[in-house]
Amino acid sequence: MKFSAMAFYQEEISKLFSEFNSQKEGISPSEAQKRLQKYGPNALQEKKKKPVWLLFLGQFKDFMILILAAAAVISGIVGDLTDTLIILVIIVLNAILGFVQEYRAEKAMESLKKLTETQTTVIRKGEPVPIPSHELVPGDVVLLEAGNMIPADIRLFETFSLKVDESSLTGESVPIDKVSDPISKADLSPGDQLNMAFKGTLITNGRALGLVVGTGMNTEIGKIADLLQEDSPVTPLQQRMKQFGKIISYIILVICGLLFLGGIARGENIFQVLLLSVTLAVAAIPEALPALITIALSLGAGRLAKKKALIRKLPAVESLGSVSYICTDKTGTLTQNKMSVVNLESDHHLNISPRFSNLQLAMGLSHDVHLDKKGQPKGEATELALVERLLKEISLDQFKEMTQEFPRIGEIPFDSTRKRMSTLHQLGDQVLVLCKGASESISSILQNEETAKQLILSSEAWAKKGERVLAFAGKLIPNLPMETDLNNLEMDLEYFGKVGMIDPPREEVKVSIKECKTAGIKPVMITGDHPATARAIAAEVGIWKADDLVLTGAELANLSDEAFANQVEKVSVYARVAPEQKLRIVQALQQKGHYAAMTGDGVNDAPSLKAANIGIAMGITGTDVSKEASHMILLDDNFSTIVKAVKEGRRIYDNIRKFIKYILTCNTAEIWVVGIAPFLGFANPLLPIHILWINLVTDGIPALALAGEKPELDLMKRPPRPPKQSLFAEGVGYHIIWVGILMAAVTLFTQYWATQNGWHWQTLVFSVLAFSQLGHVMAVRSDRTFLFRQGLLSNYPLLLAVGGTLVLQLGVIYLPFMNEIFHTEPLNLKELLFCGGMGLIVFHAVELEKWVRIRFIN
Ligand code: ADP
Ligand code: MG
Repeated sequence: MKFSAMAFYQEEISKLFSEFNSQKEGISPSEAQKRLQKYGPNALQEKKKKPVWLLFLGQFKDFMILILAAAAVISGIVGDLTDTLIILVIIVLNAILGFVQEYRAEKAMESLKKLTETQTTVIRKGEPVPIPSHELVPGDVVLLEAGNMIPADIRLFETFSLKVDESSLTGESVPIDKVSDPISKADLSPGDQLNMAFKGTLITNGRALGLVVGTGMNTEIGKIADLLQEDSPVTPLQQRMKQFGKIISYIILVICGLLFLGGIARGENIFQVLLLSVTLAVAAIPEALPALITIALSLGAGRLAKKKALIRKLPAVESLGSVSYICTDKTGTLTQNKMSVVNLESDHHLNISPRFSNLQLAMGLSHDVHLDKKGQPKGEATELALVERLLKEISLDQFKEMTQEFPRIGEIPFDSTRKRMSTLHQLGDQVLVLCKGASESISSILQNEETAKQLILSSEAWAKKGERVLAFAGKLIPNLPMETDLNNLEMDLEYFGKVGMIDPPREEVKVSIKECKTAGIKPVMITGDHPATARAIAAEVGIWKADDLVLTGAELANLSDEAFANQVEKVSVYARVAPEQKLRIVQALQQKGHYAAMTGDGVNDAPSLKAANIGIAMGITGTDVSKEASHMILLDDNFSTIVKAVKEGRRIYDNIRKFIKYILTCNTAEIWVVGIAPFLGFANPLLPIHILWINLVTDGIPALALAGEKPELDLMKRPPRPPKQSLFAEGVGYHIIWVGILMAAVTLFTQYWATQNGWHWQTLVFSVLAFSQLGHVMAVRSDRTFLFRQGLLSNYPLLLAVGGTLVLQLGVIYLPFMNEIFHTEPLNLKELLFCGGMGLIVFHAVELEKWVRIRFIN
């Protein structure tokens, strides 16, 4: 086997088969295994990752950290060497913490990527089998279908109206018609190799069989893979945090600069003042926040995956909380996609078979259902229902005989814009055309106008009962038509009958819809089905209420964008909609300021999924194309999962806000304490090492634990968060300021009281500030629920972090060697009790804030 510079598109396929030691029936599974060993998995190499040690070193890149280290060294040379050593140790500990956070964030992102693997159908020993795409090997024969992403570089040898969107490779946005014959011209660029399908491009139409000629990096896209490596996307929240971080850093630097100058003016030791102000800057600049946000988002994405909502784009995690509209498919998402025929009408105008009625023929032949090895029919739900019903009237053997007696020789596949499909069957020297689809679609191609009118009316009656109606028609023609007059096939048909089937709603959907409504989210049904069917089901699950509008695709097409935008908020059901129209619905909602989630599964859904604020693809029935375009994938195709995801999204955002609130309050408190003391004529309250210590134990760990906080009780009772809402809205900004000042007041009062009474004031000041922050973190766990109601034990990691810090702080107070390091002294009982009491003030004050908010604000 040589895959040298041979131009695959120029060769005869037979030659390629022998070249690759393969055949139409594919290679054997054992041969595939061997080749997989030899050529490696069919995956693009990731960009070389930063080695772990570089990631660690990166923690020291921060300018302020460097200055701090320098300041520590300088002040060590002129003064206390232990201080310097301890500061350096704390800097390293800080770096380790930052490193662990960043590493975790990266790992979590990686495991997310792994979950979005695609499947491919290969032919192995003549049998089609689905395998994970990364197991494809050169020589494999693959079956490609509309909606697939092309898994490798493939030479096509059989194509049926195959169209491929190659924009990801060539930039050409119009889908390309593909062929299977060799092309003789030399030196064609990939875009002109019409009998080749390239890895990473998308099939928008048709079917094909092809031979894999290149996998992994040995593909066209592999050659440019380096160009394609995208950096991990920055979510809006991260972006805002970055900007905010910059501003706050400057403010802090200015304050610390003033402190430095003030200290010098007061004639203090220049090195000590320098060290103090640099330490303060390091402690107060919230450099950990971006990494913490990434961790919270990606851990959240992991939790979402467990709930069967797979996040493809990280920003979706935070935008979920802003969703105000969920536009959902009906079939399979709101309903169980388990159809059964409950109503049937047969018409017998044309004599075709002495054994079977025309309706039976249509039900038995016009579908893609196949019998599996055990003789069980398998296939798409709608068609399966038809066959299952037919098998109540005729035996399985008769069914098989029917299939043999009327071999299929052609088809025009179903598509949800035309809403019908046709199959052609040989019958002696004649051809039987069978057509099935939506009543309106079939009635438009019936020969008899009266029958056509009748069909519409009678279908309407069935549809009102919530039945999905499918009509059948057909005709006999002399011989197989030419490719060119395919259109004439679906004309002048005889009516064969119709069936009504039901597809019960999913049990859990009604509850979810109620939940949506209390959460200020409007659920909207979008379906290709009949308006009456759609409305009946929408009413049953609670989507449609008495004065809501039902809009059909035809009506929508007649509305101007403006007229549509004016009534879009009144519509709760869209029926007989073509997938292309979903884009207009998204746009109209967005124009009205809504944040829309939209589901989809087909190729034609891709534009609307991309345009939606959250595009949601179906994991089971969805095509690769729709998944590629989506932000999130529903692994169980279930509407309720969307609602669960929104809930989780709101919770994640809440928790991020909580730790931002916590960290910034603590940081500003430190600044207040050090900054105000000189104005009160106090001695400098905190040593650099105290500040670093508080920063180390309070910043990272409790903040992470806050990210795992349980949902607020009113999470799904309040309206969606406005997407542009500031992080500091709803009292967060005030909280940071007033609690920061309170914390500083408590600390400074401690200093005053302790010096007045001749107590160990420095130890007391240090400990009271540390305890205040622990009290704060416990109170900040909820915005509205008191801690005693929430339960002290309901967040173990946080309790552990707080308990651990408490013990460490007691160690700082009572262990002799810690006394040495931290310049502290053991407190007597009176002092310790005072310290505990002062430390609880902030906790109670924040609990009081909740009470005030509930009572007076909202
Ligand atoms: P939805 O998924 O929203 O129910 P579809 O686009 O799948 O809508 O179907 C729209 C209409 O097309 C259905 O109401 C039905 O009349 C018709 N239809 C659906 N599936 C098939 C099929 N396999 N063959 C023929 N017609 C179909
Ligand atoms: Mg459908």
